[in-house]
Amino acid sequence: MEVMENLKTRVFKFGDNSADGNSSMKNLLGGKGANLAEMSAIGIPVPPGFTITTEVCTEYNLLGEEATINLLKDEVEQAIENIESLMGSKYGDEENPLLISVRSGARVSMPGMMDTVLNLGLNDRSVIGLAYKTKNDRFAWDSYRRFIQMYGSVVLGMKPESKEDIDPFEEIMEHLKEKRRIQLDTEFTVQDLKDLVYDFKDAVKKRTGHDFPTNPWDQLWGAVIAVFNSWNGDRALYYRKMHGYPADWGTAVNVQAMVYGNMGDNSGTGVCFTRDAGTGENQFNGEYLINAQGEDVVAGVRTPQQITKTGSKRWAELAQVEEHNRIANYPSLEELMPEIYKELDGYQKKLELHYRNMQDMEFTIQEGKLWILQTRNGKRTGAAMVKIAIDLYKERLITDKEALLLMEPNKLDELLHPVFDLKALKKAHSIAQGLPASPGAATGQLVFFADEADKFKYTILARIETSPEDLEGMHIAKGILTARGGMTSHAAVVARGMGKCCISGAGALKIDYKNRTMTVDGKEYHEGDWISLNGSTGHIIEGKVATVEPELSGEFAELMDISDRYATMEVRTNADTPKDAKIARSFGAQGIGLTRTEHMFFEVDRIKAMREMILADTVKGRKRALAELLPMQRSDFEGIFEAMHDLPVTIRLLDPPLHEFVPHQLETQKVLADDMHISLQAVKNKVAELEEFNPMLGHRGCRLGNTYPEITEMQTRAIIEAALNLKAKDIVAKPEIMIPLVGAYNEYVEQERIIRETADKVFNERNDKIEFLVGTMIEIPRAALMADVIAERAEFFSFGTNDLTQMTFGYSRDDANKFLPIYLAKGILKQDPFEVLDQEGVGQLVEMGTKKGRQTKPNLKVGICGEHGGEPSSVEYCYRVGMDYVSCSPFRVPIARLSSAQAAIKNAS
Ligand code: PEP
Ligand code: MG
Repeated sequence: MEVMENLKTRVFKFGDNSADGNSSMKNLLGGKGANLAEMSAIGIPVPPGFTITTEVCTEYNLLGEEATINLLKDEVEQAIENIESLMGSKYGDEENPLLISVRSGARVSMPGMMDTVLNLGLNDRSVIGLAYKTKNDRFAWDSYRRFIQMYGSVVLGMKPESKEDIDPFEEIMEHLKEKRRIQLDTEFTVQDLKDLVYDFKDAVKKRTGHDFPTNPWDQLWGAVIAVFNSWNGDRALYYRKMHGYPADWGTAVNVQAMVYGNMGDNSGTGVCFTRDAGTGENQFNGEYLINAQGEDVVAGVRTPQQITKTGSKRWAELAQVEEHNRIANYPSLEELMPEIYKELDGYQKKLELHYRNMQDMEFTIQEGKLWILQTRNGKRTGAAMVKIAIDLYKERLITDKEALLLMEPNKLDELLHPVFDLKALKKAHSIAQGLPASPGAATGQLVFFADEADKFKYTILARIETSPEDLEGMHIAKGILTARGGMTSHAAVVARGMGKCCISGAGALKIDYKNRTMTVDGKEYHEGDWISLNGSTGHIIEGKVATVEPELSGEFAELMDISDRYATMEVRTNADTPKDAKIARSFGAQGIGLTRTEHMFFEVDRIKAMREMILADTVKGRKRALAELLPMQRSDFEGIFEAMHDLPVTIRLLDPPLHEFVPHQLETQKVLADDMHISLQAVKNKVAELEEFNPMLGHRGCRLGNTYPEITEMQTRAIIEAALNLKAKDIVAKPEIMIPLVGAYNEYVEQERIIRETADKVFNERNDKIEFLVGTMIEIPRAALMADVIAERAEFFSFGTNDLTQMTFGYSRDDANKFLPIYLAKGILKQDPFEVLDQEGVGQLVEMGTKKGRQTKPNLKVGICGEHGGEPSSVEYCYRVGMDYVSCSPFRVPIARLSSAQAAIKNAS
């Protein structure tokens, strides 16, 4: 066993147009490592390096630091030698030092969630070698101070102690700036940088009790272990939880030769996208800085310049920079370094073609030589996702199936969100403009700290700049506003990934964290003030602005058409009103899978009759109240049938426990007593009588109809009469009457008998007929177990996975939020089973129910109407089980249509 373990390859090398790995090895090498290998192999100039596999991260979690280093030592030493020979320098050498970077890289991109350390290999001696080699003292000492700062923060834990504090290293720099009466980092002399190195090391010793590590190998192992640890850091844990990524994926570690963008005016660094990540427009774009390192572009401290001339002109217009100023101070890379631009443009085209997807690339120019540091599939908004995939398909770079598979169905949700009402927007007062970093409309109250994003119901998080620590708050806030940073700043990239409205780089804002204020043109805005953001134009607006429903793009319609080409499982909707039914139909719903009739009883004019029905002591009294409800129910059904003409409409009989309808407050009890001419005490007694210890397991579902058959009679009559009334107007209604909460065969049989008898009665009265089905929900485990028997009578099954999950787990739907968040945080459960169908457990009942039902009735129609019917992974599951349809809320219909098509394509073989 031990011998086998040691034979395993843990380190994969790349560089100089060759590589041990390739892009198909993402699980083992992480996304970044696999791509570096692939890029190197296809002739993209990446700095040479190697990747330590994700499996080692898991080994490290089991074995600890020392054993892991022992396992890796030989392979890592050989891989470093390989870099040394390709770069012609030596790690830790005093005269010709090789410097390296250490970066994390999980199988999926988790931007900023884990750690990176740059400039490893520097110490008091190699810094002199570096200065000599580059003939640049300043560069060498600046790299050294950056290294101590980064290593101190990431590996040695030297972070600010409280949220109002600044970084301990920044504090030292601020002191020195004050002392020297200078403002910018670039004004430090070489002696200042040497002093900083000394002071930084001193601070490390004071805070950690140890000297800063000078041995390059100690530095390397410290950084590797820190990257493994960051996989279980708070930020990564939160991100993983948010996206449902399991802990055992682990992160890889990428070690690479450093290349420098800060070696003078013929050096630089930047980030670019092969298409626009906000709108999807096919326009190469990005930002760069001359004489800078990568983090300077994303940190948003300096204003980055645009890569292309077109982008630069657009930026200048938004930033109100005159053309002569733009050319003199902010020229595009295309204008400033045309040869390098041409080379970069060639690589971006090559990479997009190669990966058949929009790429997000990082590059560095070191003394006139272009290096590509990384490429990955770019994060994008929902709108960009749709446009890019459809455009790539139309440009014949990918097939229609590939276009569908490029989509994340849940992201369609963003396209359906409201946008600002143009009329309201015209009257609005824009106080400043920033960069339109992530489109959309957001209105909320100002907060200045990410951990206070839930302070008000709707918040706008305003920051000088954001960092990965702010992720959770960014997720909660309605919109994000930053004073610094460009289109590729942390805030912009993360917000686009989340589909959250964001304006970045609004330089006119002065944000004061201590006083919790934001000043624009001398006017102060405080925490709690209302602000609106137009993420599509970059306008920051005072107060609230009204919103309207969005218009869907042509590409969206094309996407839906392509989905329908492949989807075999239908998509219905859960809708209780004609309005919802119409919305769902406009989104392509192919019927209604669930109308919850109880919602109709809560409206003001109906609740009274409903309560009278519940409070009645006799059948006669109940029938009188039901007769009042009948015309209202009938007209509701007419509205729904009309909206859904020619399509099936599943109507479920009354389901919830009756106590949900009776008044629990004294005042309303009094009103009811007066209305019914009975005593207050009688009302109170009845309310007390209806109280149950476990109402969700109590007198509800078909148990109501079986104890009060007159309710089933009234509802059936309303359904059948409504359908006949429409028939008289030449409108085809296709009712499917659904019996809830069946557990025993006879419960079903008895309800079906009442339904059929009532329907026959109405047909006789009207001397007319319509077609209709009777079926049941499968939402009690026993119903799934007895499905073969129930299917002898039922004409369709609809899985009510909300109740089925509740009853299979034994978790109350109404109380689970007391422990589920803790279960998720602790990893006891990987996902909330009320959101994502538990395929392993509850799924067994779904599969069994479907199989047994179809044993009895091969053509039994089977669907799902629990919340899971609109969740992509659950939709795919339903497809695999062989369901005829899924049903979900109207706004999830497009998501389910796309998921249904993806399921058919993925499971085609
Ligand atoms: C279900 O239980 O899944 C269902 C659709 O019914 P309800 O949510 O109304 O109980
Ligand atoms: Mg239910």
